[in-house]
Amino acid sequence: MDCIFCKIVNKEIPAAIVYEDDNILAFNDVAPQAPVHILVIPKEHVQGIADFDDSPVLGIMFAVMKKLAIEHGLDRTGYRIVVNQGQDAGQAVPHLHFHLLGGRKMTWPPG
Ligand code: AMP
Repeated sequence: MDCIFCKIVNKEIPAAIVYEDDNILAFNDVAPQAPVHILVIPKEHVQGIADFDDSPVLGIMFAVMKKLAIEHGLDRTGYRIVVNQGQDAGQAVPHLHFHLLGGRKMTWPPG
């Protein structure tokens, strides 16, 4: 499958991996939008949140993000978790991913 995140999962292309287990991979975003910008993905190829059932992996992904936030000291300052789902949200990579962003003050609402 010609999916860039599947290629990262399969170690066909490199990434700065910060967490891995049987079902989940987390790696630094190649074009960070904040001092901490980590992408957390299911290893299974699902296009987006709409295609992911109520798999327990979803809950574990949130536990992983909480752990990564603590590791980066973001639990003290705050952080944002974002999913861009589909065209209007600007989803560029059609493999479900959570953006974990932190280390700077953020604005609201998003553009
Ligand atoms: P989205 O717009 O939500 O689909 O976000 C896709 C994200 O993937 C962007 O923040 C990109 O910078 C990031 N990205 C694309 N290719 C790579 C890659 N090879 N390694 C790490 N991050 C990537």
